[in-house]
Amino acid sequence: MEWRPDMPDITIAIDGFSSCGKSTFAREIAAYMGYRFIDTGAMYRAVTLFAMRRGAVGMGRVDAAALVAMLDEMEIDFRFNPSRGASDIYLCGEMVEGAIRTIEVSNCVSEVSSIPEVRTKLVALQQQMGRKSGVVMDGRDIGTVVFPHAELKIFMTAEMSVRVERRYLELRGRGEEVSREQIERNIRERDIADQRRAVSPLRRADDALLLDNSCMTLARQMEWFRERLCELK
Ligand code: C5P
Repeated sequence: MEWRPDMPDITIAIDGFSSCGKSTFAREIAAYMGYRFIDTGAMYRAVTLFAMRRGAVGMGRVDAAALVAMLDEMEIDFRFNPSRGASDIYLCGEMVEGAIRTIEVSNCVSEVSSIPEVRTKLVALQQQMGRKSGVVMDGRDIGTVVFPHAELKIFMTAEMSVRVERRYLELRGRGEEVSREQIERNIRERDIADQRRAVSPLRRADDALLLDNSCMTLARQMEWFRERLCELK
């Protein structure tokens, strides 16, 4: 059966390793389906930026107690930006799309995201944002914790060299001085930390479909997605 726009809205959960192109794929799916897209990695990055700016990160280490004590003052929301045709993330009223994507934030984000109080706050916010179906959410624990009953779950992976090259081109494109070695180290460290943390570690949900996009263009990934969507019916 073909998928038709008049079919009931569903929730789509996309999880996977760092720099596999989850957000790019999720955004494309959201545009195709006419759904909302929520990048939960951006939310953990925004908390990390908040911690850095408020002095809860020193010498690359996160002071969890200090961060937890000021979590109530932290506000995160998404606002639609018509010129980009996508939502920008705001931290305490300031647009921080660019500021959260630096290597400094990447180097601390996995430690921040392992703090249970941070996860409790963000998971509640994500469940609230996705309470109405018709949403595509990407992250590390969407299919396992945030929306365990999502109708479609996808778990993404790709070869390390492909992931490094994609992130390298993205950061260089934004003018950041960063080497492939730095990026690979960061990706490997985040993968390990995300899988080993005690609270909602990164893992593939039993009912998640596996997608290795190492050799796939975005157009091919969308073809794969449409095939899976048809199988749902
Ligand atoms: O997706 P992105 O690479 O921007 O995510 C940044 C980091 O945020 C991840 O490495 C992970 O530590 C954390 N994260 C998480 N749970 C999510 C999304 C992201 O722990 N749902």
